Amino acid sequence: MAAKACSVLITGANRGLGLEMVKQMVGSPRPVHQLFACCRDPDGPRADGLRDLAKKHPNVITVIRLDATDHCSIKESAKQVGSLVGKAGLNLLVNNAGGLSHGNMQTTSTQDMQAAFNTNIMGPMNVTKEFLPYLHAAATANGKPGMSCSKAAVVSSSSTVASMATVKELYPFFPAISYRISRAGLNMLTLCATEEFRKDEILFAVLHPAWVRTDMGGEEGAIDAPESVEGLLRMMDSLTEKQSGAFLDYEGKVLPW
Ligand code: NDP
Repeated sequence: MAAKACSVLITGANRGLGLEMVKQMVGSPRPVHQLFACCRDPDGPRADGLRDLAKKHPNVITVIRLDATDHCSIKESAKQVGSLVGKAGLNLLVNNAGGLSHGNMQTTSTQDMQAAFNTNIMGPMNVTKEFLPYLHAAATANGKPGMSCSKAAVVSSSSTVASMATVKELYPFFPAISYRISRAGLNMLTLCATEEFRKDEILFAVLHPAWVRTDMGGEEGAIDAPESVEGLLRMMDSLTEKQSGAFLDYEGKVLPW
């Protein structure tokens, strides 16, 4: 198993799975050294829990404003992080922020599609592009061959509903076409990035957290956020170059594209 990342950035870290990741990363027996917990409104009521955690771990957690659909805010956050990580760079970027709207083809508007694409594809793509110099720096600083989340990696939250192989079986229960299509796009983006940055030894992967009881997953979800995040973090710790470009669930099961 690979070592833990020293510096980590998480988008959408103010609630749901993102906040739980922050909790578990700072609470672990081997906590990360620098945790950049990003959210759209760090001063607002939806970031109360995150601000409390940051107060308890002031040397580890830095709360940073980042709206994944706003290029200026992405650039600003990258500047802030760059000045804090220095030559050591950023080991792990977790593209966790995401949005879901329900609707089948007949009820989904152009605006719904654009919103889903902006948050779920362009968001992770623009965030990744802006933080790439720090991921490169981390890969160089590490100096050892191979790939891992403790070296330089981008892990994005995706979903089994992005899987084309399962549409026939699952579509009647969960149409949400803007979400399905945008997550399928994120999966393709991840595969493309895997090839583009293989030579730089930056690992890319997409993980499905399970159907989780959060604001997005709802009360009917199959598991709670702590169980999902325990699995996700275990997966992240174990990823190597063999899994770069993989689509896995929180327990490590390989998912069909
Ligand atoms: P939640 O709806 O509970 O939380 C979503 C998070 O994303 C919030 O922090 C929200 O911030 C943030 N966010 C949304 N849009 C943006 C944006 N433009 N910029 C920055 N942050 C943004 O979702 P979960 O915690 O359940 O899900 C986390 C990830 O896991 C998502 O990507 C989701 O698609 C994926 N996933 C979840 C599943 C589930 O069952 N829960 C199943 C499969 C995948 P704000 O408070 O500002 O709105």
